[in-house]
Amino acid sequence: MGILDGKRILVAGVTMDSSIGFATAKVAQEQGATVLISNFGRALGITRRIAKRLPVEPPVLELDVTDEEHLARLPELVREHVDGLDGVVHSIAFGNPETLLGGKFMTGPWPDVAQAMQVSAYSLASLARACKPLMGSGGSIVGLTFDATVAWPAYDWMGVAKAGLESCSRYVARDLGPDGIRCNLVSAGPLKTLAAKAIPGFEELESMWSTRAPLGWDEKDQTPTARAVCALLSDFFPATTGEIIHVDGGFHAMGA
Ligand code: NAP
Repeated sequence: MGILDGKRILVAGVTMDSSIGFATAKVAQEQGATVLISNFGRALGITRRIAKRLPVEPPVLELDVTDEEHLARLPELVREHVDGLDGVVHSIAFGNPETLLGGKFMTGPWPDVAQAMQVSAYSLASLARACKPLMGSGGSIVGLTFDATVAWPAYDWMGVAKAGLESCSRYVARDLGPDGIRCNLVSAGPLKTLAAKAIPGFEELESMWSTRAPLGWDEKDQTPTARAVCALLSDFFPATTGEIIHVDGGFHAMGA
């Protein structure tokens, strides 16, 4: 018996097998869920190849969260495979590394900041809105953040986008709670994924974790984060919404 037996789950944002979304899809399948995954644009072909590495090859849907047409047709695409959704994972972020990250905070241009905000924060509400008709009997939405309560080296405008995402999650929780839909985030420590490698200076964060996280931290192991996402997707957090669960080896709780 798995904690997600019988659950139908969409994981949005899987590119490589290093993606947090990939690890989440894997754990969700191991826990009994029927999983669909999505990605967008040129990387869709990579996602289709990577999907074969999961225990069960899932359907791969095309979804650019900034494209209103993609969002509008999402319920139809999902219904080609399952008759509804019990869980949705938002594992999506983008910020131009050349203009917004790695010490570029004071010069970040608005069009790039606007794109980062749309893809990384606003899209949680867009995805929730698109999936709501599929979640007739309630469900769970889970997103991924990097602790936005403080300023970090290198993270720059992505930190501001994550603060937006964290607030957005609370408002989604407020507005969809009456429909039985929960919305929570997992705040992960630094993990070696495509998105992280694109951030100039991300190694500085990784080295802080190696000395300060009381439980230690393996930046190559996406599984603890994936398991927390799956726990939030399951029926084991029925009264939890608008919450942020840290999966960071305990780093956030240490003063120094
Ligand atoms: P990842 O593998 O690069 O995943 C990010 C995904 O977002 C990619 O599949 C990317 O697609 C997708 N994406 C970007 N723009 C999109 C759009 N317009 N529409 C749909 N999908 C889009 O990196 P990851 O680290 O697993 O990131 C997953 C989530 O975890 C992100 O929210 C990230 O901020 C968060 N997180 C990561 C870390 C870390 O250290 N890695 C720590 C805490 C939180 P393409 O590859 O095709 O661009």
